[in-house]
Amino acid sequence: MAGNIMLEVVTPDKAVVSEEAQIVVAPGEYGEFGVLIGHTSFLTTLKIGMLRYKDSGGAERIVFVNGGFAEVLPDKVTILAESADRRRDIDMDRAKAALKRAEERLAEVSRREDFNFRRAEIALQRAVTRIKIGEARRGTA
Ligand code: ATP
Repeated sequence: MAGNIMLEVVTPDKAVVSEEAQIVVAPGEYGEFGVLIGHTSFLTTLKIGMLRYKDSGGAERIVFVNGGFAEVLPDKVTILAESADRRRDIDMDRAKAALKRAEERLAEVSRREDFNFRRAEIALQRAVTRIKIGEARRGTA
């Protein structure tokens, strides 16, 4: 079926994306999935990762997503994430500082009982993924 699908990426504090896409590829909890117009409806959880889509002009766009949910309808994909950032909005210095903090926390975990390993691990994952997206090939936004 020809045509674009509507993509919405929403977090508790902002609407990050609201535009038509030719294709959307999202980081599902059980693997990446692609959606074109006319897809069967489904609901799934997402992991921390990279959401990719082609905008209506065919340009590739990349968005960091901090887990959440995806609702797929035949003509619309809605992503509800705890946080999300378009590639061009990622502050690399901030992500690198977050990575350093998370690494220091992880190094502390074995020595400090009050430190939460899982929490530090997830923070590390967010930072690493933001950095990876920020360093992705030029020409994508
Ligand atoms: P930090 O420790 O730097 O806050 P974090 O991974 O804990 O990083 P999140 O909880 O994912 O941050 O996001 C909190 C808010 O900060 C969101 O609005 C998110 O868009 C924004 N944000 C976090 N890191 C960055 C970044 N590197 N560049 C741009 N915006 C960011």
